[in-house]
Amino acid sequence: MNVRRKWLLFYTLLAGVFTLLLLLVISGVNFSTAPILIEVQAEESIQSPVSDLVSKPMSVSIPGFVSDLEPVSTSIPEPAPVTVSVPDPMPQTLPTPVEFSSLPLDKPEQPPPPQTTSVTVDTYMPNGAATPFASSKVSIPVLNYHSVTIDPGNVVVISPAKLEAQMKYLHDQGYTPISLDTFIKLIEKKSGIVAPNKPVLLTFDDGYVDNVEEAMPILAKYNFPATLFMSPGMVEDPSYLSWEGAKQLQQAGWDIQPHGMTHPHLPKLSSEEQAYQITEARKLIEEQLGTQADVFCFPYGEYNQTTLKLLKAHGFRYAFTIEQGYTTNQQSPYLLKRLFINGEESLKAFINKLHKAN
Ligand SMILES: [Zn+2]
Repeated sequence: MNVRRKWLLFYTLLAGVFTLLLLLVISGVNFSTAPILIEVQAEESIQSPVSDLVSKPMSVSIPGFVSDLEPVSTSIPEPAPVTVSVPDPMPQTLPTPVEFSSLPLDKPEQPPPPQTTSVTVDTYMPNGAATPFASSKVSIPVLNYHSVTIDPGNVVVISPAKLEAQMKYLHDQGYTPISLDTFIKLIEKKSGIVAPNKPVLLTFDDGYVDNVEEAMPILAKYNFPATLFMSPGMVEDPSYLSWEGAKQLQQAGWDIQPHGMTHPHLPKLSSEEQAYQITEARKLIEEQLGTQADVFCFPYGEYNQTTLKLLKAHGFRYAFTIEQGYTTNQQSPYLLKRLFINGEESLKAFINKLHKAN
């Protein structure tokens, strides 16, 4: 081949190459980006299933996540678990709801013990509340009055108006003044004896004539019995009850018992003199009134060992002192306590004294 034909072939090939390049440029092919585009498309085709499973739910669960950010990959820190940041609405420490059946009721399940006259002595308590668990102790308030008239400043004298107020209080509060006979049966816990509601024993010392004139009508108004301790040696004194007056009281439901013949200071007397004061008073009362008078009351509240021996020797059953307190079956039969009623005290003081525990 000659040189001329070689050059013709070279330029022909060169023109073909340029023509080809020109056609490629016209068609828009970018030779510099084509490999990258293919690579990205290849990666997306591979990772797409993974991103659907991982990033898509996470992007949805994060509040405020901007959707036009770069596609989420495993390198993005996971949000804090929802269960940590959300307060527990029902902590385990909350008390479990109480079932209705276990709610406390206003009324006790067991009915309270009856407080009627069916309550026996063994279950009686001075406040009137009977309970089967109470001790066998019997405790009864014994009120100690003397004269009933107008005598300001004299503590042993109570005005009729005050006595009336006290009797009304006892009545309104459900107290039951009892006879001496009932009192003894309660103290001795006689089988079968039924305790009345709030029993109380009303006693009057000395036998003043005003007991008939003032006290008797007031107590009769409420049908209250009482016990009188009189001194038979004083029946001729106009300040004191005559036998006729004593009989009136007896007919009104009062029990009449001895208080010494002449209201002496017994410890100052000889044994024989004491015996006379004690036994003669009993004898006269029993003769005049036809009653049993073996419950003594110490004049001035005074006694000694001779006095106590004489009471026992002559068969007295009980004796009252002026020591303060409820009378109980645990006290010596000859040393029964009482509650002194001070005529100068208010009704409130009377109430407090009456309620004071033994
Ligand atoms: Zn007296």
